[in-house]
Amino acid sequence: MGKGFFEVPIAVNEPILGYAPGSPERDRVVNTYKNMYNETIEVPLYINGKDIKTGDTATMAPPHDHKHILGTYHKAEKKHIEEAIAGSLEARKKWSQMPWEQRAGIFLRAAELIAGPYRAKINAATMLAQSKTVQQAEIDSACELIDFLRFNVQYMTEIYHEQPESTSGAWNRLEYRPLEGFVYAITPFNFTAIAGNLPASAALMGNVVLWKPSDSQVYSAKVVLDVFREAGVPDGVINMVMGDPVMITDTVLASPDFSGIHFTGSTHVFKDIWQKIGTNIHNYKTYPRIVGETGGKDFIVAHKSSNPRQVATAISRGAFEFQGQKCSAASRCYISKSIWEEVKDLVIGDVNSFKIGSPENLDNFITAVIHEGSFDKLASYIDQAQIDQNAEIVVGGTYNKSEGYFIHPTVIKTEDPKYTTMCTELFGPVVTIYVFDDTKWEETLKLVDETSEYALTGAVFSEDRYALETAVRALENAAGNFYINDKPTGAVVGQQPFGGARASGTNDKAGSKLNLYRWISPRMVKETFVSPIDYKYPYLG
Ligand code: NAD
Repeated sequence: MGKGFFEVPIAVNEPILGYAPGSPERDRVVNTYKNMYNETIEVPLYINGKDIKTGDTATMAPPHDHKHILGTYHKAEKKHIEEAIAGSLEARKKWSQMPWEQRAGIFLRAAELIAGPYRAKINAATMLAQSKTVQQAEIDSACELIDFLRFNVQYMTEIYHEQPESTSGAWNRLEYRPLEGFVYAITPFNFTAIAGNLPASAALMGNVVLWKPSDSQVYSAKVVLDVFREAGVPDGVINMVMGDPVMITDTVLASPDFSGIHFTGSTHVFKDIWQKIGTNIHNYKTYPRIVGETGGKDFIVAHKSSNPRQVATAISRGAFEFQGQKCSAASRCYISKSIWEEVKDLVIGDVNSFKIGSPENLDNFITAVIHEGSFDKLASYIDQAQIDQNAEIVVGGTYNKSEGYFIHPTVIKTEDPKYTTMCTELFGPVVTIYVFDDTKWEETLKLVDETSEYALTGAVFSEDRYALETAVRALENAAGNFYINDKPTGAVVGQQPFGGARASGTNDKAGSKLNLYRWISPRMVKETFVSPIDYKYPYLG
């Protein structure tokens, strides 16, 4: 330790492969998908370096082909969670003292494993588990996860470089210690990259982590875990457990050594967890860090000066890619009256041209939503919109779950800017449009700001700089990621750090230094070279 000031490789974004017909990457991912589809796997808990099979299992199936079984995963009992916590605290003794360059080496290796030998497998697993098209899998499970790992290593070293001033008489050193205790990472179904990043970012900073993936993502989480193991993450540093989320969370939050939560998922779950942490606060040895990125009701607002083709494309991609199941997906749009007819025709044209089906067929642009609960909820909102006087279905409005959970991309137009689908996060391929009078730009911006409890992403389209400037100011607090003349999705690590405020989360910006600061507790060390030997100051005479 301490035998050089090492520079890490400069992080660059992983290039996105194209998967065009005839390309080698296309053949590789299709073959891997077929092989994985035709075998069944068993996913044990992974605790302190051991695979644990509890015998209490649940099945895994592709959302687009829900009768097909991909395998089973094992569910934890309370004792397994307690064992995982105890084991990780034991592992912490060595891991927290591990020189940073060794931690960096492990996670840079993980990035290279995903970029190379695991790429087809992690993408195929994400296509199967979460019904992502190959493009959506590539930008998530391959590129974004690689970027998180590489950029976080660079950010870690930038943080370590941040040191206070010293004088000739005293040397001031900031040590960026990991948190005292263990970190709990709870991850959502929708991004394999988030599933990998939430445990990895805290572990990179020297913490030990208990990771609970979503029930709907265990299949691809297993590939992430295999990468961590092969990259050399030591036993007990990242434990992975599945099972009843309430039991697991209650057990974790009861531990006096709980020192932080890294959560991504829905707002109500995060708020409940926050409340439980508050209730337990007197039991903890340290104030836990609470980091949560949660829901959104993301908007597009289009001024009369904007280009209808650009607005329509932003809706078609921003609302419907990955079936609208991105936290950043556009789900409420405010379109100026004079451009609406053109935007409408273009969006209808786009939606009618979408191919829908299994991601195994690479021609498909839209596949299934994640599970039956989501399907039923979306179908009920669509049915309601068919009935409601103040709503009309512009395109879509059909659904079918006989083989997979397929919801046809749906555009609802409403006369009521506070209509339920303008306010509630649906998390599916349903977007609602409110058409506003050309003269009511400022009133509409106020409406955009005040309609939803969330503030995650939003986009404004305008060719008029004055109108644009008004929007940038009026919507200052309406989105943590704000886009000008672009769709509100597709944030890239290192370029657009991601997160929102209000009910959308603590806005600790995944994929940036800001996030890593939450997993450290600095110690200030002042070393005085020649200590004073007389208590009297000169003014005492
Ligand atoms: P979810 O809240 O249902 O589940 C997220 C995680 O919490 C899962 O691991 C789940 O098992 C666990 N969980 C569920 N109930 C729990 C409970 N009572 N106690 C403890 N843990 C519990 O969310 P999801 O459906 O997996 O993901 C979609 C949600 O995530 C959407 O609201 C979306 O906006 C949000 N999201 C936000 C971001 C962001 O960066 N802001 C990114 C991705 C997803």
